[in-house]
Amino acid sequence: MKGGKKINNTSTKKREKAETLFRAIEKIIPDLRDRIVLEMIGTPLTHSRFLRRYRGTYGPAIAAKEGRFPGCKTPIKGLYRVGDSTLPGIGVPAVAASGILCANSLVSRPESVGLLSLLPSASSLQ
Ligand SMILES: Cc1cc2nc3c(=O)[nH]c(=O)nc-3n(C[C@H](O)[C@H](O)[C@H](O)COP(=O)(O)OP(=O)(O)OC[C@H]3O[C@@H](n4cnc5c(N)ncnc54)[C@H](O)[C@@H]3O)c2cc1C
Repeated sequence: MKGGKKINNTSTKKREKAETLFRAIEKIIPDLRDRIVLEMIGTPLTHSRFLRRYRGTYGPAIAAKEGRFPGCKTPIKGLYRVGDSTLPGIGVPAVAASGILCANSLVSRPESVGLLSLLPSASSLQ
């Protein structure tokens, strides 16, 4: 790659699979490969190895008719669960929401509102 770093983790099969995606994106960005600074090809095995994802999955899928993701509470006192295996489910926004739901279950509504005053104001962040 031009001036970039290429991590040498590309088996032939991985490279073949990635080629399909490269060709699709090159229809929109023809010089895609020239623009790459760092290339790392990930597969379900990568997710399994580095994120301890069960069989490298994207995240758990529970069909609506089959039940719901578990909430944050557990039978063990002081132990809570959050993340994409819990309500409301997969994806970064849902995972953030699971943290919010859990935090809200730990403090009362007035306490939660009171904590907002500890946040820096939007203007002080600029
Ligand atoms: C290829 C791919 C693309 C995605 N694209 C999008 C997208 O475009 N938009 C979107 O919203 N979501 C996307 N997602 C889903 C999103 O990434 C996940 O839902 C979200 O990251 C899950 O967050 P989490 O905190 O629950 O788990 P993770 O992000 O998996 O974090 C769990 C962490 O715990 C660590 N860990 C695991 N076991 C241990 C242990 N025993 N000890 C210490 N640490 C441990 C892991 O290393 C990891 O850092 C994508 C997922 C994948 C795999």
